Amino acid sequence: MARITIIGGGVIGLSIAFECQRRGHNVTVVEAQQCGGQASGAAAGMLAPYSEIEEDPDDFFRLCQRSLQLFPKWQEEIKRHSDIDFEYNESGSLYCIYHEADRLSLETKQAWQRKFNVESTILSAEEVRVKEPGLSRDVVAALWCPEESHIYAPGYVAALLQACRNLGVHVIEYVGDATLDGYAVVTKQERIESDQVVLAAGAWSMYWEKELGCTLPVYPIRGQICAYEAPPLNHIVFTSQGYLVAKANGSVVAGASEDIADFDTNVTEHGIGRLEKWSKKVMPVLEKMDPFHKWAGLRPATQDGFPLIGKLIKKPGVILATGHYRNGILLSPITAKIVADEIDQVPQQIAIGQFRPDRFQAI
Ligand SMILES: Cc1cc2nc3c(=O)[nH]c(=O)nc-3n(C[C@H](O)[C@H](O)[C@H](O)COP(=O)(O)OP(=O)(O)OC[C@H]3O[C@@H](n4cnc5c(N)ncnc54)[C@H](O)[C@@H]3O)c2cc1C
Repeated sequence: MARITIIGGGVIGLSIAFECQRRGHNVTVVEAQQCGGQASGAAAGMLAPYSEIEEDPDDFFRLCQRSLQLFPKWQEEIKRHSDIDFEYNESGSLYCIYHEADRLSLETKQAWQRKFNVESTILSAEEVRVKEPGLSRDVVAALWCPEESHIYAPGYVAALLQACRNLGVHVIEYVGDATLDGYAVVTKQERIESDQVVLAAGAWSMYWEKELGCTLPVYPIRGQICAYEAPPLNHIVFTSQGYLVAKANGSVVAGASEDIADFDTNVTEHGIGRLEKWSKKVMPVLEKMDPFHKWAGLRPATQDGFPLIGKLIKKPGVILATGHYRNGILLSPITAKIVADEIDQVPQQIAIGQFRPDRFQAI
């Protein structure tokens, strides 16, 4: 049984804590502010790798696909240990196009996805209308992916946190920025001696470069997002410009911008204005509505688009789990499994070499 201290209480840190504690380790999570108070609580909650990943498949696609496959059982476990429901919804998705010329891109995507046993169908405009009557009549076709699903992200964070606590994880919030002294995690209040430290600090991971002696090119990319009180959609709806996803509280969430704004989490008129313009075209009933809620979060983006997951070669008592950019909710179960397997020295079942955290230059 190892003493594991996790720095960062977003979905990544909490998922790792849950997995490690249920495997019998003694886990502590230290969070600068409130667990889930950053990117994780701001997310739209989509589990949608087939719609999100445009290009040919690579190890990142396989990572996302594996995590999607883990989700049904994972969410049941989190619910069982927390007694909190977070609206897991196997709604499927529609990726809509508005020009005949874009049909080829749908066909190409479908062709390579089929090689990975992804179920999908290209629907005609009429078929889309039957599935989703509230969409604009300008849709000419859509790729229907029945396996994509979504959850309510703030509920997922609350459930993870409760599940961790119920299992006996020691969660310490509002500690400010924790630091490292050897393998001890140091906060304003205490010093936590650890056998293994996991850094799950999201967009703030770059601040650890000096301490860890390697380049960590993780940058905050702000996502602005808003919600309308609108009639529900049956599926997640994607277009090349964004997505709409309905939640059980009667809202339709429209997302999301990708801005460089350092660590600023304010929304801007321009960012929300663009979302409003786009979403009203996609779902005409929104035309006469204003969003009732607008917010933003900082996605942890990386230089090469891949997350950083695994042990540091020069400092093996430290594992990184960060840089999940647009897919941290989706990737939470697989990241937890990879990290716990790494700690337990269980051979990995999928290729993770491309996600090595020290793949960038040493400093
Ligand atoms: C608008 C928006 C929509 C999104 N939609 C989706 C989606 O639909 N599906 C999906 O899969 N993903 C989505 N994402 C991405 C997803 O939210 C992120 O990838 C994910 O939340 C990253 O989780 P994390 O735990 O790494 O980071 P965070 O949630 O940011 O957590 C990191 C935590 O570490 C803490 N921390 C940092 N430094 C320290 C320190 N020194 N000491 C102590 N604590 C520290 C921070 O306070 C923070 O709470 C979305 C993101 C945004 C912004």
